[in-house]
Amino acid sequence: MLEVKDLHVTAEGSEILKGLSLTINAGEVHAIMGPNGAGKSTLSAVIAGKDGYEVTKGSITFEGQDVLEMEIEERARAGLLLGFQYPVEIPGVKNIYLLKAALNAKREAEGLGEIPAPEFMKLIKEKVASMKMDTSFLQRAVNEGFSGGEKKRNEILQMLVLQPRLAMLDEIDSGLDIDAMKVVADGVNSLRAEDRAILLVTHYQRLLDYIVPDRVHVLVDGRIVKSGDAALALELESRGYDWVQEESAA
Ligand code: ADP
Ligand code: MG
Ligand code: MG
Repeated sequence: MLEVKDLHVTAEGSEILKGLSLTINAGEVHAIMGPNGAGKSTLSAVIAGKDGYEVTKGSITFEGQDVLEMEIEERARAGLLLGFQYPVEIPGVKNIYLLKAALNAKREAEGLGEIPAPEFMKLIKEKVASMKMDTSFLQRAVNEGFSGGEKKRNEILQMLVLQPRLAMLDEIDSGLDIDAMKVVADGVNSLRAEDRAILLVTHYQRLLDYIVPDRVHVLVDGRIVKSGDAALALELESRGYDWVQEESAA
């Protein structure tokens, strides 16, 4: 589904990704782990098409399409969705309108018409309930005054409504208490599907107790230095990242 080959990325003159390769098949959940500053967020940002990065070498293809040739909106319409892709706060724009507009843009790209209001309300109520959110949330401006945990839930809510092909979630576990993390993890697990892949970026192993990945990749200094199954995350938890770095340097 997604193929990243020998990706080199610079930002403000310094090289962040230094030859990163990664293949994700439909139906899989991949976790990208690694120390702070390794380039984890850069990877998902570049796949989603965020500004401020220059790809100097390598390729990204999504279902055979050249992602690097696509505008950020085209990527979203193709189903490549990064949580928080939308501005962190949009004063005055109600959450529910943003969700509806994003969903209708997607439906338009799929040749469907606007979603009928009753159908949308039914869908949104069901998803809000599954995230254990209050419906009053929908009437608030996007992320304005949301707590950290509410922002994370809202991020998963977006994913549940938009049903992307590739859902990219960056540090969705940061700052969550254990109950909120379970709700968020349940939301992510409910996104698992044969025709969808999930890319989880996380610094900590904890989340992976609840969302068990098919593949775990260790990203150090702009490269994937080790890949394995869910057991690798546990090993990282007990041994840290240094040994992987040493092993890959040897
Ligand atoms: P991680 O998510 O693994 O902690 P990041 O991808 O956020 O790492 O950042 C990797 C490195 O690239 C860091 O040293 C960071 O300061 C730098 N970096 C990230 N984004 C930019 C940017 N837009 N401009 C300049 N440097 C950046
Ligand atoms: Mg960071
Ligand atoms: Mg990061």
